[in-house]
Amino acid sequence: MNKVILLKYGEIILKGLNRPIFEDALIKNLKQSAFGEKVKIWKAQATIYVEALDDTVDMDNLAVRLSKVFGIVSATVAYTVPKELDKICELAATLIKNEKGNTFKVETKRADKNFPIKSPVVSMEVGGAILDANPNLTVDVHNPDILVMVEIRDFAAYIYMSKIQGVGGMPVGTNGKATLLLSGGIDSPVAGYMVAKRGVTIDAVHFYSYPYTSERAKEKVLELAQILADYCGRINVHIVPFTEIQLAINEKCPQEQMTVIMRRIMMYIANAVAKKNGSLGLITGESIGQVASQTIQALGVTDDASELPVFRPVIGMDKDEIITIARKIGTFETSILPYEDCCTVFTPKHPNTKPVLEKIKKSESLLDLQPMMERSLEGVETVVVKRR
Ligand code: ATP
Ligand code: MG
Repeated sequence: MNKVILLKYGEIILKGLNRPIFEDALIKNLKQSAFGEKVKIWKAQATIYVEALDDTVDMDNLAVRLSKVFGIVSATVAYTVPKELDKICELAATLIKNEKGNTFKVETKRADKNFPIKSPVVSMEVGGAILDANPNLTVDVHNPDILVMVEIRDFAAYIYMSKIQGVGGMPVGTNGKATLLLSGGIDSPVAGYMVAKRGVTIDAVHFYSYPYTSERAKEKVLELAQILADYCGRINVHIVPFTEIQLAINEKCPQEQMTVIMRRIMMYIANAVAKKNGSLGLITGESIGQVASQTIQALGVTDDASELPVFRPVIGMDKDEIITIARKIGTFETSILPYEDCCTVFTPKHPNTKPVLEKIKKSESLLDLQPMMERSLEGVETVVVKRR
C-alpha cells in the first residue's frame, strides 16, 4: 500500500505574498532533516508531501523526525488511494482493522472542489462501508476512539487515522541569526529553542574555565546543542576559554560584584563572536529574580555591556514553567547532569543584588580586559553540531 507523509504548516499560511519564501525555507529544512532517506518532498495546496521512492524508508519514523522541524504543525502518515468512492470505502474499512477502539467517526476534507461528491456524503458512505466490514464497531460523532480522516486532494485521496503534533513556529532561516549564551543549565537551552522556533538561525557560545570546569561539562553542553540541532538544524558552538578572566575578576574585583562583572564580560565576548558570525542579537536564559545576577538591576547592568539586543524569552517564566518546556523538548535530563558550570565555580557568598552601573564599571576598569579578551577570542574552538 502506498504511504505518504502529509505535513501541515501553521502561521506561514498568513504570510500573503511572502508565503512562497517561507514555504521554500521550510522545504529546505525538511530536506535537510530527511537527508539520506530516499524520498521526494514537494508542496501543493498548502500541504507538503513526502513520498518514499522505495520501500526502505521507515515512514513512521521519518514522520516523527519531520514533526520536529519548526514550521510544521502536524505530520501524518497517510495511505494513498485513487479518487474513487468505492476504493476509498474499501481501503478505510481495511485500515481500521489495525486500530484499537470500539467507536469511530469519519471526517472528510475536500481540497479538490472538482471532486463531484460532497464531503458529508463521502463520510457517510465510508462510515457505512466500515460498519459493514467491521460489525464490532459503532459510530460516535462526539467522542470517537478512532477518527478516520479522508482528504480528497488534487492528485489522489488520502486516508489516515492518527496525527503527530508538530512543533509549530516558523522555518529556521527566515528570521535572521542570533547567538545563544549556552550554559549547561536548564534555562538557556529552552531560551535557544524558543527563539529558534520563531525562525531564527542559532549559533551558540559557551564559556568554560578549564580545569575548574571539566571536559565532561563541555561535552554536556555539546549534547544540549545536539538536542537543539535536531529541531533547528546546524548550530556552530563557539567554546570560549574563560579561566584567565575569571581568575583576574576573582583577584581584582570586590567579591560581591564578581558575578555581574563576569556577566558583562560574557556579553562583550559574545558580542564579538556574534558580530563575526553575522548574528543580530544575543539570547540568554535569564528570568527575573531567579538568582542574584538576574534582579532587574543586575539585568540592566548586564545589558549595558551589550551592543546587540539581548533576547530573553524565559524572562517572565517560573522555573517550573521552564522545566516543563525542557522536558517536552528533551533537554531536561541532560541539563540536570551534575557537572559544574564556570558561573557556579566562582560564585561569591553574598552577591550584590542591586548593582550600580558606575561602581561596576569602576571595578571593571581594574582589569586589563582588552588583552585578556583578545586571548580568549583567539582561543575559541568552534564545534559544528548538525541535525541527527
Ligand atoms: P541556565 O540559565 O542555563 O540554567 P543558570 O541558571 O546557571 O544557567 P546563570 O548562571 O545565572 O543561569 O546564567 C544566566 C544565563 O547566562 C544563562 O541562561 C546563559 O544564557 C548564560 N550563561 C551562564 N553561564 C554560561 C556559560 N558558561 N556559557 C555561556 N552562557 C552562560
Ligand atoms: Mg538560569
